[in-house]
Amino acid sequence: MGKPTGFMEFKREKMKEQPPLERIKNWNEYATRLTDEQLQTQGARCMDCGTPFCHMGIEIRGTAAGCPIQNVIPEWNDLVYKGNWKEALDRLHMTNNFPEFTGRVCPAPCEASCTLGITDPAVAIKSIERSIIDKGFENNWITPRIPANRTGLKVAIIGSGPAGLAAADQLNQLGHSVTVYERDDRAGGLLMYGIPNMKLEKEVVERRINLLRQEGIDFVLNTEIGKDISTEEIKENFDAVILCTGAQKQRELRIDGSNSEGVHLAMDYLTDVTKSLLNSNLTDGKAINVKGKDVIVIGGGDTGADCVATAIRQKARSVYQFGKHPMLPTTRMPDTPWPQDPNIYKLDYAYEEVEAVQGGDPREYLIQTKKIIADKNGHVKELHTIQMEKILGEDGFYYFNEIPGTEKIWPAKYVFVAIGFEGVEKTVPEQFGVKVQNNRIKASQTDFETNVPGIFAAGDARRGQSLVVWAIKEGRAVAANVHHYLEARVLK
Ligand code: FAD
Repeated sequence: MGKPTGFMEFKREKMKEQPPLERIKNWNEYATRLTDEQLQTQGARCMDCGTPFCHMGIEIRGTAAGCPIQNVIPEWNDLVYKGNWKEALDRLHMTNNFPEFTGRVCPAPCEASCTLGITDPAVAIKSIERSIIDKGFENNWITPRIPANRTGLKVAIIGSGPAGLAAADQLNQLGHSVTVYERDDRAGGLLMYGIPNMKLEKEVVERRINLLRQEGIDFVLNTEIGKDISTEEIKENFDAVILCTGAQKQRELRIDGSNSEGVHLAMDYLTDVTKSLLNSNLTDGKAINVKGKDVIVIGGGDTGADCVATAIRQKARSVYQFGKHPMLPTTRMPDTPWPQDPNIYKLDYAYEEVEAVQGGDPREYLIQTKKIIADKNGHVKELHTIQMEKILGEDGFYYFNEIPGTEKIWPAKYVFVAIGFEGVEKTVPEQFGVKVQNNRIKASQTDFETNVPGIFAAGDARRGQSLVVWAIKEGRAVAANVHHYLEARVLK
């Protein structure tokens, strides 16, 4: 364990962040590492509590409690405390293929379940995780692991997000020949085009993909399965197929005026900006540019927050984010007890930034957009809204009612729609003859196989929009099942 009395002696310290007014001047990651000494002190805070809830990885009422990939957190906390960074890295890689992604973008359900969190601020697990892996790369401890033997069996993975990458990594290490197909021009799925650069620099994603390439995985980019290559051809040429196509079908806004110029789906905005940043440092003029304009993001979730942070970096004149839910409580409520995710109000990076620029949190709660009005050229000019109230009905369900007299008009030149995702795109499953249920590919959580033998599914495509850490978990699990399938049916 860490230092037996560490949790009483030391205070929690997490990664340092650049001040908001500084970091919005660039697109670089805003979180920076603590010193080795500070990190060892943070490792010392782990109590090795006997029954470490931080790594239990179960779902309670739809959200993760503890680490879904069962990272053996107390062990690497102890190793860091003792300065055994390389051993900590080995221990971390045992359960997590890509700690450099989760160490940057995971909402850290492990910290919400940390036993110390019952009475004190939780151990800074995410900061420690990120530092272990970053040190690993800096010290060249991470080198290509090229499998000594090949089985001669071929697996196609469709989609290169974290689920596809984790599955590819696992299967490649087992000696199978893996080809990952990706329709985009760069691999990584939402790690590349979705999560913005300031949260996860794209060199970090490329670094891992290059490593996987050196280890023998074949990446075929700019290739859409079902269009550029038929599903029949895939079935003929591979011994097993894994569908990791994500759940990127966005929910559209269907109100008057939503087809006006200047109204965009959030993902189109985020993708264009990242592409332009990577291709030309934003000089190619291909990204939507909101400089000097009034921006409204409709949708109160994390995708909306990423749009807010992007707009503020482009120097928008004003940025607001509309959500239909009330503000979250500032402390844990009785219905979200430890070790559940507390689901409390946070001033996320994007809101901190807008607060620094505009003097207030950009979020508007319990607000409904009734219509969008365009100018004579068809370009959005203003949004008409009304406030809502959330009422608990006698039947035990919540209802949203409009509050008369609260109508308001908001000027806007750009509107980004971030009201969620409808689920998996249907073309690929349909062409493979794979069943889709509730907008997800139907495949069991036990063996990840679809109704078509030899065709498996994992990640958001199977579970719906989720988190990077769940995608990694699913990628690892589907790989284990594909390996069993190949052993049982093909190698027999
Ligand atoms: P995806 O990452 O969606 O990858 C699917 C890939 O399949 C895509 O690259 C797609 O192009 C490809 N594909 C689809 N169809 C085909 C085809 N026919 N042929 C070839 N390729 C195809 N999670 C976090 O944990 N932390 C965060 O901070 C976070 N931020 C997010 C921000 C945004 C804006 C969004 C939208 C999501 C965020 N998430 C975050 C969620 C997380 O990114 C996803 O849960 C995760 O990426 C899902 O991984 P996946 O591999 O299942 O699918």
